Amino acid sequence: MVRKGYFGGFGGQFVPETLMEALVILEKNFSSLIKSPGFKEEFQRLLADYAGRPTPLYYSEKLSKLTKAEVFLKREDLSHTGSHKINNALGQALMAKMTGKRKIIAETGAGQHGVASATAAALLDLECSVFMGREDMRRQVENVVRMKMLGAEVLPVDEGDATLKEAVNAALRKWSEDPENIWYLLGSCVGPHPYPEMVREFQSVIGREVKKQVPAKPTHLVACIGGGSNSMGLFYPFIEDREVKMIGVEATGSASISRGQPGIFHGAKTYLLQDKVGQISPTYSVAPGLDYSGIGPVHSFLKSTGRAIYLNVGDSSALKAFSWLAKNEGIIPALESSHAIGWVMENSWKSSDRIVICLSGRGEKDMETVTERGQV
Ligand SMILES: *Cc1c(COP(=O)(O)O)cnc(C)c1O
Repeated sequence: MVRKGYFGGFGGQFVPETLMEALVILEKNFSSLIKSPGFKEEFQRLLADYAGRPTPLYYSEKLSKLTKAEVFLKREDLSHTGSHKINNALGQALMAKMTGKRKIIAETGAGQHGVASATAAALLDLECSVFMGREDMRRQVENVVRMKMLGAEVLPVDEGDATLKEAVNAALRKWSEDPENIWYLLGSCVGPHPYPEMVREFQSVIGREVKKQVPAKPTHLVACIGGGSNSMGLFYPFIEDREVKMIGVEATGSASISRGQPGIFHGAKTYLLQDKVGQISPTYSVAPGLDYSGIGPVHSFLKSTGRAIYLNVGDSSALKAFSWLAKNEGIIPALESSHAIGWVMENSWKSSDRIVICLSGRGEKDMETVTERGQV
């Protein structure tokens, strides 16, 4: 039997009763709009003319020479606001608008998703409040300013470690108070059904474009994993192409799927980092967008079937890849994406391998970190 919102034994809706009403409304809106020609046409227009899609697939001669394989970079760093997050933000904000909502709320860790949400809200005349841990606000001052400049309100969250995990909880709580008028714009393939499916739908444009752009079928798809949305967007359109290998690269300090255990986190059954008594473990990565204790349930499922594999690389590999790409290709990648690049650089390859790496975002946001880490 296929249970609704499950991927094998993962996913579901593990939420308090007060949130069920909100999820039921969301499911109804999502499943009807995603089929509506009016929505599809407008979403397509925004992706093309506003966000700058399709993003290029760039053949990297230097990475190819280094690895002795063929290496392509999917340039999500060139999309509006500088990362893949805009795809999902535009999709959900447009649905919010078309269902008559006036307000969106969002959570953010590093601020990238908060900026993408504030951007979509400004464009579509929606009010926007972004929950952000107070500690993250301190670390990501520039993104806080960007969100405010775009007209959003940034709401500090003081509970627990005052980071992303608490920001998600605060947003879920706020949403349950007024699901008729508020759309919760969740930023990755995580959370209760229908979020993992919805975010996957909006991010799959990445893999669909790659399919058309790549000169011959890729042998490997490689992407970094925070919650799992840029990777899922790249992988999903290739899921039936059995010979295409899919590799998710986590940060060693927040390797929820390669080092965690299944449990319940943010409304879904999935892999997460927890201690012996099931308390969520704190994480650390030099890449703020990878600093999350959980992962989307679809990835947990792909791990369980062996369709995708998951491994992790440390801060120093990512920092090395960051500098290498900047100096050799003139592309400053986000520290998140640098994990995927670092893994490809350190692996050995055959000349027949054709690798597509998702370059999920650009690295201007990381200048302070890389300076502190002595990369400049
Ligand atoms: C947020 C972010 C990530 C991680 O999130 P996913 O949902 O796993 O994609 C990766 N790269 C960049 C540039 C990000 O902003």
